[in-house]
Amino acid sequence: MEKLEKKEILEIGSVLEKAGFEAYLVGGCVRDFLLDKEPKDWDITTNAKPEEIQKLFAAFAGATAAEPATVYENQFGTVGVKTRSEDPTLKIVEVTSYRLEGKYTDKRHPDEIKFAKTLEEDLSRRDFTVNAMALELKVKSEKLKVNVVDPFDGQEDLKNKIIRAVGNPEERFQEDALRLMRAVRFMSQLEFRIEEKTEVAIKKHAGLLEFISKERIRDEFSKMLMAPQGGADGVRKMQELGLLKYVIPELEEGVGMGQNKHHIYTVFEHNVRALDYAAKQNYDLLIRLSSLLHDVGKPATKRGEGPDCTFYGHQVVGERIVLKILDRLRFPRELIEKTALLVREHMFVYDPEIVTDAGARRLVRRVGKENLEALFQVREADRIGSGVAKAVPYRLRHLKFRIEKVMNDPVSVKMLKVSGEDIMREVGIEPGPKIGYILAVLLEEVLDDPALNVKETLVARIKDLAQMEVQKLEEMAKFAKKSANEAQTIIEEEIKKKYFVK
Ligand code: ATP
Ligand code: MG
Repeated sequence: MEKLEKKEILEIGSVLEKAGFEAYLVGGCVRDFLLDKEPKDWDITTNAKPEEIQKLFAAFAGATAAEPATVYENQFGTVGVKTRSEDPTLKIVEVTSYRLEGKYTDKRHPDEIKFAKTLEEDLSRRDFTVNAMALELKVKSEKLKVNVVDPFDGQEDLKNKIIRAVGNPEERFQEDALRLMRAVRFMSQLEFRIEEKTEVAIKKHAGLLEFISKERIRDEFSKMLMAPQGGADGVRKMQELGLLKYVIPELEEGVGMGQNKHHIYTVFEHNVRALDYAAKQNYDLLIRLSSLLHDVGKPATKRGEGPDCTFYGHQVVGERIVLKILDRLRFPRELIEKTALLVREHMFVYDPEIVTDAGARRLVRRVGKENLEALFQVREADRIGSGVAKAVPYRLRHLKFRIEKVMNDPVSVKMLKVSGEDIMREVGIEPGPKIGYILAVLLEEVLDDPALNVKETLVARIKDLAQMEVQKLEEMAKFAKKSANEAQTIIEEEIKKKYFVK
């Protein structure tokens, strides 16, 4: 009960009540309250119209006409009321006029917004029975009377843990196809199951997802991945119901695809299990996405069949696929790039007999200090997702130790004790590509032996290098870059072949 007795909510309720309007808490907050969970946000529905709501709350919580407490931007009948609450879930409370479902010619937005006269009408346009309940906000002497309005037996479904469309499921999914994903998202988030008819309708109309904006799909998908149990069952369900091929078809290719003798799961199942682990560790969206997508390059790189098949280079192909997927889903640039990086690098070698300090420095150089922890988390998810028992085996700990040791060694041109200007001054050359080549070669040598990173030593080496032909230098520099990136991958592949890692 205290969960509902928020000062801000009671105040908003009483403003509406005093002006003669009805006011109800509605949707997710009612569902969460009945599940004894802390609501994530608060929605109030009322028979007041947007203009009336704006008028009533313009001066709410000490606001003034110059800076009113209300925001009305989306034109869908929702007025945001700023409460000045310290609690982030209560900062803006959404107050929405009773609405009816409009006609959806584009299957995503009602063509026009139509207001409803009654609460029941408003509830009937909502997606699922557990989201179509309201709680009356009758504020009697600051105490809340709990009167649940539940015309579609949402409480019963809540008790039985069922996601069921309100009314005719086929019609409801045709009105707004995002509901296809929302069904799976709530299933996963609440650990419910989807009612049979609703599920049949999802399967039948899965293709309508094509009409939905990528941003809305991304938001639902992210919410699903961020559910406490991580949405692994949701990803499986999306696959089963034919939704996944409209969201991440690239993952679908791994369904049923067997791997070699080092794996017990198919490519798809392994990816999903990696996500599952990442979620159970409560890792962030970056790690969850990277874990889910870490082997997305395998279907394209599979060679051979049966216990000896290989997936050489799948991480490099995977990087490209990840860029494509996340770009298509309009994820923010930084998240896209980091996910791609983690997927590309997830195969790093951590065998103490193989990894040298120079190898560890090259890893730090390629991945960046700030991303190492994330990379280890993805690798951990990869290991657990493949059915191997220990997440951080001795060998991985050993690499961490190694990395800590070399963490402050020079790994980038910026960390060299000489700069481009030093080169120009010391050997009197003009600005140009030659300087870049020299720096690349120096870095390569310093990565192998950080003791060389002393100004006098480097200057001596610069004098040698400057004597060389530009072409020769360019070749050396190219090789240096390669060994920091691709060549490293090739070497690692060779090592893996030899030891038959994966
Ligand atoms: P969350 O806890 O994730 O916020 P929620 O149930 O509050 O879950 P919202 O997306 O915030 O979900 O939507 C609030 C309410 O609005 C829902 O509970 C539901 O009643 C209604 N609703 C939202 N989106 C749709 C939709 N696409 N179709 C029908 N009703 C919807
Ligand atoms: Mg909500």
